[in-house]
Amino acid sequence: MRSRVKAETSAPSSGPKPPRRKRAAIVAGGAGFLGSHLCDRLIADGYRVYCIDNLYTGRLENLDGLAAEPRFTFIEQDVRAPLETLPEAQEVYNLACPASPPHYQRDPLDTVTTNVIGTLALLKLSGARQARLLQASTSEVYGDPAEHPQRGSYNGNVNPIGPRACYDEGKRVAETLCYDFRRQLQADVRVARIFNTYGPRMRTDDGRIISTFINQALCGEAMTIHGTGCQSRSFCYVSDLIEGLIRLMRLEDAPATPVNLGNPEEFTVLELTEEIQRQIGGCAGVRHLPPVEDDPQRRCPNIELAFDLLGWRPGIALRSGLRQTIDWFASPPGAVADAPSIAATAVGPA
Ligand code: NAD
Repeated sequence: MRSRVKAETSAPSSGPKPPRRKRAAIVAGGAGFLGSHLCDRLIADGYRVYCIDNLYTGRLENLDGLAAEPRFTFIEQDVRAPLETLPEAQEVYNLACPASPPHYQRDPLDTVTTNVIGTLALLKLSGARQARLLQASTSEVYGDPAEHPQRGSYNGNVNPIGPRACYDEGKRVAETLCYDFRRQLQADVRVARIFNTYGPRMRTDDGRIISTFINQALCGEAMTIHGTGCQSRSFCYVSDLIEGLIRLMRLEDAPATPVNLGNPEEFTVLELTEEIQRQIGGCAGVRHLPPVEDDPQRRCPNIELAFDLLGWRPGIALRSGLRQTIDWFASPPGAVADAPSIAATAVGPA
């Protein structure tokens, strides 16, 4: 078994203490990038964890570090299939959905039905079990935003029939379902609107700019920028994000609105390429390609609500998060060398 996966588990932070009583959690989409880090964290916090995933974009090697863990069970299952046989759990995290544009656009019908039918199924399951559900939503619900930075109250600017709609609108309907379950059936739901997150275990083929740029730079190729490179993005390191999800799930009273989780520090795409080039060395430079349809020009979260409610804000600077991510991507497959881990450093009271 590769020990690398276990080594870069997000360490529990000084955030909220895990509940004393034995708890169980279902993590749908737990074999993916974020889901596998979440499984690691929940196991470290003493939970019994049931990871369900159809391996559409997830990978079993993301879970290698948990293979010998008796409190961890992987169940290969689609969230749209009947879920009644799943074990009891007090907490349900729904992360099941391909998250990167090439993956979610590969089969748009799969993406939209996973979001709508899958979320509905998990809401029904959570309701029947009186479990708490946390829905992983996305900053993409804001579309190409006319408001900047985006507050949770901004209703977005989404093209409902464009190539990204299967994801953006799918996630919007999933949010609608969550709040209708809350209003109509008093369900205990929480919605995190996640902004760009990066770190070890991103897929090299996911088409997201950090993984794409790092791979290109490591191969000595020019980094390909769609458009001018002046469009902005904000990047949250994975352990910070997981800390935010955990705090949102453990909040006693569910917030009345979705909560933005992301890093408000804003960089242009060109600035990102410069930092990656500085860390990797070599000078293949950048190559400009035509802009992508419906690509948002600015993306930056307003995280005041997360700070007020959860005492959360990200603590890991892009430079150090990139260093960890580059080290992970640079490790040869199957390497046993430990990738250094970064403990979540979210600050403030739990
Ligand atoms: P990912 O693609 O690595 O993980 C998604 C997981 O869901 C995969 O393991 C995949 O196999 C699984 N899955 C997909 N369809 C499924 C289905 N029908 N049934 C069961 N499992 C299914 O993506 P990620 O980056 O880990 O994102 C996780 C969640 O967070 C997604 O819901 C995504 O929309 C959300 N999110 C992520 C980011 C980010 O920057 N990573 C940003 C915003 C929102």
